[in-house]
Amino acid sequence: MADQFDVVVIGGGPGGYIAAIRAAQLGFRTACIDDWTRDGGKPAPGGTCTNVGCIPSKALLQSSEHFEHAGHGFAQHGIDVKGLSIDVERMIARKDKVVAQSNDGILWLLKKNKIPFFHGRGSFAGKAGDGWAIKVDGAAPVELAAPSVIVATGSVPRALPGAPFDGKLVLDNAGALALPAVPKRLGVVGAGVIGLEMGSVWRRLGAEVTVLEALPVFLGAADEAVAKEAQKAFAKQGLAIHTGAKIASVKAGKADVTVEWTDAQGAAQTSVFDRLIVSIGRVPNTAGLNAEAVGLELDERGCVAVDDDCRTNLPGVWAIGDVVRGPMLAHKAEEEGVAVAERLAGQHPHVDFNTIPWVIYTSPEIAWVGKTEQQLKGEGVAYRAGSFPFSANGRARAMGEATGFVKILADAETDRVLGMHAIGPMASELVAEGVMAMEFGASSEDIARICHAHPTLSEATKEAALAVAKRTLNL
Ligand SMILES: Cc1cc2nc3c(=O)[nH]c(=O)nc-3n(C[C@H](O)[C@H](O)[C@H](O)COP(=O)(O)OP(=O)(O)OC[C@H]3O[C@@H](n4cnc5c(N)ncnc54)[C@H](O)[C@@H]3O)c2cc1C
Repeated sequence: MADQFDVVVIGGGPGGYIAAIRAAQLGFRTACIDDWTRDGGKPAPGGTCTNVGCIPSKALLQSSEHFEHAGHGFAQHGIDVKGLSIDVERMIARKDKVVAQSNDGILWLLKKNKIPFFHGRGSFAGKAGDGWAIKVDGAAPVELAAPSVIVATGSVPRALPGAPFDGKLVLDNAGALALPAVPKRLGVVGAGVIGLEMGSVWRRLGAEVTVLEALPVFLGAADEAVAKEAQKAFAKQGLAIHTGAKIASVKAGKADVTVEWTDAQGAAQTSVFDRLIVSIGRVPNTAGLNAEAVGLELDERGCVAVDDDCRTNLPGVWAIGDVVRGPMLAHKAEEEGVAVAERLAGQHPHVDFNTIPWVIYTSPEIAWVGKTEQQLKGEGVAYRAGSFPFSANGRARAMGEATGFVKILADAETDRVLGMHAIGPMASELVAEGVMAMEFGASSEDIARICHAHPTLSEATKEAALAVAKRTLNL
């Protein structure tokens, strides 16, 4: 006899566990299934984000940034550090502890919201009356039934053709987050968010890092001025980034990896690395769902096909997060999870992709929301731009982190904010003001007239808004 629920969520990443919590808040009897397992066989809900993504990468970025500051930044403050060293094992153990705390926190949240958690792999077993039967293959196999199912099975890393991940020399994100020592020569294929963040961690700890990016432009999705500033800053830090690099072959030897590639000029190159991180994107994870048996439709990229509201082709079955179209971001997955739960309750939520913020947690940080200048030009939208450099911001100078700027883009006629782009200290936090402004349909003048505390980094946002009307006060 199957356990009967109103909603069964398959996948306990940020999309799935948040969807389950919102569904439970709305009064649905909800179950959550997740198969991630940590050492000792214990469940590890939280998905890619918690286990091998957002959280552990930020933990290592923080540790490595402390190391970099102690080695290079403290001296200008009059603080001399002698005998500086890094204990990678301890750094990784701290990261693992942060992850485990998050796993436990999610289990606690599920319990608090009275959501039974099933540790194992969930798959469609067929129809159950008007709803669906879901089988859980775990230590204690069980069958659940519900009229509504939310698929939140996330994504897995994409490997380079002919170069499978081996967990030792050719690494995916999980491997990159668990290196036992600092490699001398580290290769990174792919200069996207993950490649740049992982490259930054190991570069700060002493690795010689070479990043090979196939696209001809660096950070093509970012505003061009931001991408240019970032490339300059990363080059200064010693990250060697080659755009237009086409990989010909990857051969893992006993202790190193040889990569043959062609540079932007078409010249053949050979590089030998002690470790290679491959971060060329992620693919939707539908393996094990038994999707074919119930006719769950996938699109041409292998994502679960959904409409704008995350409805699949099967009645009562929804899908959210990395396993469906759209940006592969934890907060996007969460917003979709909340929206689906609210839709099940008869509400009318909406997730606007144009106001989803993007962040790269390098140093300087990069963050944006809305349109870039090149997008607005391409769309023929008349706009005004205002920029303000952190070098003219008192707080940034006091912090000794005055690289970068904030830029606001506003409609030339209505002054409505169309985009905000920041590169510099705490850009990840600053971008929230741009998101808020866009969600409220604010004008750049609205931001410019809001009182911002002094001295704060957020004054750079206010000044960028003032710059739209060519009336900065501190420049
Ligand atoms: C290194 C790295 C850094 C990142 N940093 C950031 C960041 O800073 N900010 C950000 O927004 N995003 C970041 N991301 C992306 C982010 O992790 C994903 O967008 C997010 O995790 C997607 O959430 P999800 O719930 O859709 O899927 P996932 O987090 O992948 O969770 C899916 C869960 O479902 C489980 N599962 C799959 N199939 C089944 C099944 N059949 N039965 C039971 N369980 C199943 C999986 O094991 C997993 O636990 C990063 C990713 C990586 C790799």
